[in-house]
Amino acid sequence: MAIILFVRNLLPRLSIYSDEKKSELQFEIFEHLMENDFSKERLATVFALLDAYLMQTIGALEMEEALTQEKRTAGLLIGEMNEMIASMHGANERQDNRLNTIQEETAEVIQEGNQKSHILSKVRGMFQELIEEFREEARLLNAKAEHFRMTADFDPLLTELHNRRAMEAHLKGAVEDFARSGTPLSLMMIDVDHFKNVNDTFGHQAGDDVLRALSGIITAHAIQYDGFAARYGGEELVLIVQDMDLKRTLLKAEAIRADVENYDFRNRTNGQLEDTPINFTVSIGVARLKVGWTAAELVGAADAALYEAKHSGRNRVCVAKK
Ligand code: GH3
Ligand code: MG
Ligand code: MG
Repeated sequence: MAIILFVRNLLPRLSIYSDEKKSELQFEIFEHLMENDFSKERLATVFALLDAYLMQTIGALEMEEALTQEKRTAGLLIGEMNEMIASMHGANERQDNRLNTIQEETAEVIQEGNQKSHILSKVRGMFQELIEEFREEARLLNAKAEHFRMTADFDPLLTELHNRRAMEAHLKGAVEDFARSGTPLSLMMIDVDHFKNVNDTFGHQAGDDVLRALSGIITAHAIQYDGFAARYGGEELVLIVQDMDLKRTLLKAEAIRADVENYDFRNRTNGQLEDTPINFTVSIGVARLKVGWTAAELVGAADAALYEAKHSGRNRVCVAKK
């Protein structure tokens, strides 16, 4: 009852609210009370509503005074503040909390009853700080998003190459292109010869560097004909080529093989390049998609061709028999 009287007496006095707004507020509070639920939670909701209205009122009355003296600045500031708070809400919980704090602090500054110019400069300062904070957060989020994009599609070690997941998605699309418009599709499966020896002789770190050099060579070739280079697994890389006939595809595979064979990879010790190069070679299996094949069948055929290249002496290109 006391609350009802309080609400009834208080609201009409809030001169800054229009009559329409006043009855809206009254209605909202009465609606809560009408439910006849006087549990702790319900009362807390009602008090929170009253509290918010009071805070707004005190702030608005003070601002009204400020407005009479410096109408434009304060008006702009309040508009700016409301607009900004409305647009900033909802980004994430932390930002929402930060905005609520700013709103409380703004009300506090206004309540202190300081000089209007002091209020304005303080509020402006707080907003500038907040905007800078949010901008910095947005920069960090953008950097993170870019990082996630990279880690989602690219290999963490051989960063130029797509990972297996991205490769499978690309291959699926290429198989669909073939089915739809007959665009030729070939796949090269590339595996380093006796790579265990590189690791055993020069160390795993040098092995990683050799793989990076290899991925550089393959990428350089791939970009010339829009090939899609990916790491299939360990030291097995894949190059997907569309819209190229078999003869030319085999020439491209042979060009990669020859480039790798002639590449003088130099290991580094304490930042210094070593005198003797580590030479390495690759074997390549090439397969072309046939009518009715799935992506997995194409990979299987390239794998079988690679197996043949290994067993017929390595450092060579073999084409799928099927
Ligand atoms: P083959 O000519 O028959 O291919 O001989 P290989 O020694 O290369 O044999 P295989 O392909 O079976 O072995 C691959 C080796 O590559 C085993 C593994 O230790 C090594 N390896 C796989 N991934 C990485 C990697 O990311 N970094 C390094 N340094 N080594 C790797
Ligand atoms: Mg190997
Ligand atoms: Mg292998």
